[in-house]
Amino acid sequence: MTQEMSAEALAVAESCKGFLDPDEGQRLFELARDHAHLGPVVEIGSYCGKSSVFLGSGARSSGGTLVCVDHHRGNEENQQGELYHDPEVFDEEAQGLDTLPFLRDTIRRAGLEDVAVLMVARSATAAGLWTIPAGMVFIDGGHTQIAADTDYESWSPKVVSGGILAIHDLFPDPSEGGQAPINIYRRALASGQFDELPTTKTLGVLRKK
Ligand code: MG
Repeated sequence: MTQEMSAEALAVAESCKGFLDPDEGQRLFELARDHAHLGPVVEIGSYCGKSSVFLGSGARSSGGTLVCVDHHRGNEENQQGELYHDPEVFDEEAQGLDTLPFLRDTIRRAGLEDVAVLMVARSATAAGLWTIPAGMVFIDGGHTQIAADTDYESWSPKVVSGGILAIHDLFPDPSEGGQAPINIYRRALASGQFDELPTTKTLGVLRKK
């Protein structure tokens, strides 16, 4: 088992568009590395693949698989006129975002094409087809409350006992960020089905009982 991210993969992650702190990336790598033997690692919301590189590298180091679930049309805050819109990922012909080519390029450059399965689908649709236990689910999808609730309800039951549910963008102070991710984190804790592990910056980590 490879214990650390390769310098090459790290460089690809650093050069990739996206919103992920390096310490959070390192934690994702370690979590995927340590739980991919329990079942596939599932990422909800891959965007251009920055976090996918960490998760995929971790999964590969223990012989596992990463499944990247994303409709690739962007979150609410990625749309035209919104705070996190990037014109480079706008497809004129589709008149909408298309981040799939960026993700595919990232996965190729990181040498993860044999590890990562790219699933172009809405989160709930993908969950409806999913029947095998997941070693880890990372929720980093839409940040409206309804989107976050849908991701939580769709995917938290898929995590195997001993596996990990990780949730990105937790902001205990509402002045620092939207509350939907931390609301589902609290919901998971209140369900009694998860134990709380240390957080890394805005990355919440829960273990299924
Ligand atoms: Mg995020």
